[in-house]
Amino acid sequence: MRHRLFTIASRSSSRKQPSPLASRSFSRLSSQSDRPSFGIAFDIDGVVLPGHTPIGGSPRALRRLYDDSGKLKIPFVFLTNGGGFSESKRAQDLGQLLGVNILPSQVVDLLNVLSIDEYTSCFDSIDPLAPYKTWTTKPDIDQNSTSNDMVNRKIAVLCDKLRIGGLPGKETGKQPHLFFANDDLEYQATFPAERLGMGALRIALEAIYNRIHPIPLAYTSYGKPNPFVYGNAETMLRNLMPSLLSNLDVENTTNSGIRCFKTLYMIGDNPKSGIRGARQAGDPWFSILTRTGVFKGKDNHSEFPANLVMDTVEDAVNFILRKEYGF
Ligand SMILES: [Mg+2]
Repeated sequence: MRHRLFTIASRSSSRKQPSPLASRSFSRLSSQSDRPSFGIAFDIDGVVLPGHTPIGGSPRALRRLYDDSGKLKIPFVFLTNGGGFSESKRAQDLGQLLGVNILPSQVVDLLNVLSIDEYTSCFDSIDPLAPYKTWTTKPDIDQNSTSNDMVNRKIAVLCDKLRIGGLPGKETGKQPHLFFANDDLEYQATFPAERLGMGALRIALEAIYNRIHPIPLAYTSYGKPNPFVYGNAETMLRNLMPSLLSNLDVENTTNSGIRCFKTLYMIGDNPKSGIRGARQAGDPWFSILTRTGVFKGKDNHSEFPANLVMDTVEDAVNFILRKEYGF
C-alpha cells in the first residue's frame, strides 16, 4: 500500500462542533478541477446504523456528500455483507433512515434467496422437531432445545443437500457447489453483544460435515474481505461519476484516459472483514476503522490494522473532506 499506516486516537473529536469550514457547501465546486478524484465505500452495520437507528452522526456525515439542493457530489456506495433485500428496497430504507436520496446502484447487497424455512416446508418429516414448534407464546429459554433446533433444522438439512447433490432421501451423489454470501464470524446489530454471522454457520457446517462425510466440504465465500467485492465497488463508484459531472467533464474524463480515482476510502467497523479486504485490495484503497461496531479498541487492530482509526463515521467523513478539499 502506498498509504502510510497511522492511528489517530480521536475519542473526543465526535463531540466537537464542526468548524464553519466544515459545513461549506459543494455547490461552489463545479469546475473540472473540483471533480472528485476519490470515492467512499461505507459498511452499514456498526458504521452507519445497527438495525434501524443511525449511529456515529451518520445522517450528518452523508449529507456532507451532497450539495445544497440534495444532488450527490461525492461518489459513495454501501458495501455490506448483510442481505435479504433487493438493492432498490435497501436503498429506499437507507434513504429514509439517513435522510438522503440513495440510488439502488449505490448499494452492494445480497439478493433474496430461498430460506431454510421455505426449503424445509417442501418436505414432510424433514424436521423431527416440527410438531413441537407450534408455540403461540414465547417458549422458555432452553439451551438444549435451541441447540437441537439449530442442528436438525439447519445443519442437518444442509448436510442432506450437500451429501446427495439432489433431493433429500434420494441416492448419494456429488457435492453441489456451495457458496457463502460472506464469511463474517461476528457482526454488530441492535443487540448490545455481537451476533454470530454466516462465518459461524460455515464453521459449524464444515466441522460436522467433515465428520460424517469422507470428502471434506468444498465451498467459496463471497462478500468482504474477498477482493472481488472491492473491484466491483470501484466499478460501481466509477459508474456514478457521469451523474455527478457536467457533459463537458464527462467528455474530458473519457478522453483523458486517466485513472478515475486516486483514493478509495473503505469505512468499516470489522477489522477481519471490511478492513482486511481493503488491505488485500491494496492501492488505491485506504481503510478507516470506526469504534461504533465490532471494533471497540483504543488503538489499532493488531492483526488487521487500518490505515486510520476514528471514533465515528462522521469523524471519518470529516477527515476525508479535510484531506481532499482542506475543509
Ligand atoms: Mg459492519
